[in-house]
Amino acid sequence: MTVAGGLVDSHCHLDDARFNEDREQVIERARAAGVARLMAIGTGNGPPDLEVAVRLAERYPFMYATVGVHPHDASKAAPETFEHLRELARHPKVLAIGEIGLDYHYDLSPRDVQRAVFARQVGLAAETGKPIVIHTREAWPDTLAALAGWRRGGVMHCFTGGEREAREALALGFHLSFGGVLTFPKAGEVRQAARIVPDDRLLVETDCPYLAPVPHRGKRNEPAFLVETVKQLAAVRETTPEQLGELTSANWQRLFLE
Ligand SMILES: [Zn+2]
Ligand SMILES: [Zn+2]
Repeated sequence: MTVAGGLVDSHCHLDDARFNEDREQVIERARAAGVARLMAIGTGNGPPDLEVAVRLAERYPFMYATVGVHPHDASKAAPETFEHLRELARHPKVLAIGEIGLDYHYDLSPRDVQRAVFARQVGLAAETGKPIVIHTREAWPDTLAALAGWRRGGVMHCFTGGEREAREALALGFHLSFGGVLTFPKAGEVRQAARIVPDDRLLVETDCPYLAPVPHRGKRNEPAFLVETVKQLAAVRETTPEQLGELTSANWQRLFLE
C-alpha cells in the first residue's frame, strides 16, 4: 500500500548499525511506500556521537534531524555535551531537541542524573526555541513534573499510555505520536488513547529499527512499514489511511517547520 500525498515518519533511527548493509535501499523503499519525509533522531550511541542525524539530513532533502542525549546515555553527558548540542541546534535541518526524557524501565543511567540531563535539555530547547521529542517509560509522573512549565510543545514519541496519560499530555500542549505498538493485539488501551486525540495533535512514526508493526513484528523495523501503523490508526479512528496521512503530515509541518 502507498499513501498519496506523503506520510511523515516522525521518529526513525536510520543511523543504527542494523541499516549499515542496506541503508540506501531502506530509504528508497520508504519513499516508494509513500513516506515523503523522515525525521532522523540524533541520539546516536550517546555523547559525543550526536551528529549522526545531522549527517543523514544533510544528504537527503526530505530528511530532517533532531539532536539530544537519550535518557539511557544521561550519565555520559559532560558540560561540553550541552555546548555541542547548542551548536548543533543552530543547523538548519535540526528541528527539535530529542529524544530526551526519562526511562525508569531500563535505568541505564541513575534516575537523578536522568532528571538533571532532561531538565538541562528542556532548558536548551527553550533557549533555542525548538520543540522537544520525549521518550518516557515507567516514569510518567516525573516526566509530567519536568514539563510543567513547558510551552513550546513537542511530541510524546511512541505513545504507549492510556486515555488518562493522553489527556495529560494533550493538556501540556503535546502531540502524540503512534508507532508499531498500536498494531499489537494486547494494545487495547493505546488504541483507546488514539481514539480521543484531536485531529490536529496526531503524528505517526516507526521508531525503526525497533518495534515493527504487525505483520512485521519481531523483524527489523523500517520506515516503509509505517503504512501498517497508518492503516491501523485509520481503522481505530474510522477514517481512511489517505486522510490520516494528510493530517499527520500537516501536523508535523505545523509543529516543526512553521
Ligand atoms: Zn524512545
Ligand atoms: Zn527512538
